[in-house]
Amino acid sequence: MSVPAGARLVLATHNQHKVGELRAILAPALPDLAPEAVVGARDVQAPEPVEDGVTFAENALLKARALVAHTGLPAVADDSGLAVDVLGGAPGIFSARWSGRHGDDAANLALLLAQLADVRPEHRTARFVCAAALVTPDGTEHVELGTLEGTLATAPLGAGGFGYDPVLVPLGDTRTCAELTPEEKNAISHRGQAFRALVPALVAALGEAGGAPRA
Ligand code: IMP
Repeated sequence: MSVPAGARLVLATHNQHKVGELRAILAPALPDLAPEAVVGARDVQAPEPVEDGVTFAENALLKARALVAHTGLPAVADDSGLAVDVLGGAPGIFSARWSGRHGDDAANLALLLAQLADVRPEHRTARFVCAAALVTPDGTEHVELGTLEGTLATAPLGAGGFGYDPVLVPLGDTRTCAELTPEEKNAISHRGQAFRALVPALVAALGEAGGAPRA
């Protein structure tokens, strides 16, 4: 196992977009943190653990714990999804594979819309949920939750975002998340809220541990 020189924090995602997002969220709180101090799971050749938790928080924590064990660095992980009230909170932790194929956004969205075809507008309430977890090498664990409340449109609208963005209309807006700019979505999103809430714990962890990589 090798950790890039200067790495102080590792993020449990193979998605470089999320690494950039976390860097941007941390920048105001930690202006001295070099961009290369925050690395992704790919940079440390981390294996992906089985996500067998039954809540967003459990899955975020198990991903972060696995990464700490692999790198010896403080690790951040998130787990997120869509919770639909009339479906009892589903698809929830199964959001990415609701149609049976992991990561098939179009099929997941089509199945959800078909399931809700006869549901009246006042019963189409839902929310995006994100759990963001920080685990440090001394075993300290923090989890923060963020939610983005909204209602579900009857047909997809907008070209931006990913996943269920084209059907979730945030409370107080008339556009779907896929019609918002990335900046507008980040400002209100479940992920943005959860990561921003984690910043004080991150500042403490980076300040204390320094995230010195294992030899
Ligand atoms: P992940 O655990 O963060 O990779 O997200 C799991 C799944 O939840 C994604 O594949 C999407 O289907 C859904 N999801 C999570 N966050 C969002 C979002 O911000 N917009 C749309 N869909 C999302």
